[in-house]
Amino acid sequence: MTPSDDPFRELTWIDLTFWTDKQTVAEGRAFFQKKKIRQLAMTRTGGILAWVDAEELFATRVEYSDGDLIAECTCQPVEAICLHAIAVVIEYIAHLKKQIAVPAALPNDARFFLL
Ligand SMILES: [Zn+2]
Repeated sequence: MTPSDDPFRELTWIDLTFWTDKQTVAEGRAFFQKKKIRQLAMTRTGGILAWVDAEELFATRVEYSDGDLIAECTCQPVEAICLHAIAVVIEYIAHLKKQIAVPAALPNDARFFLL
């Protein structure tokens, strides 16, 4: 997959709001601006793994396929998609736009075991 046909690239604020709600998107955006997303990595299925340096260190994984956003986070969110997942998506799109390469996750990445 090349960056230009990465499905995350096409996501809009409206999409993110559709999967969550306005408040979660606003909180995720504010969190992204604090620059607390660490070590983005790609899963084999084109998803994103990240560490999120919040009140504690959370592992977050976001997959996007067939028009559906699927997120997991060790913050154990009440809602399906937490603000950390939104912040990770925004961070990833920022990487795409700046053409910063995101490495592939290693199979033994600790985040796979936490999630
Ligand atoms: Zn979370």
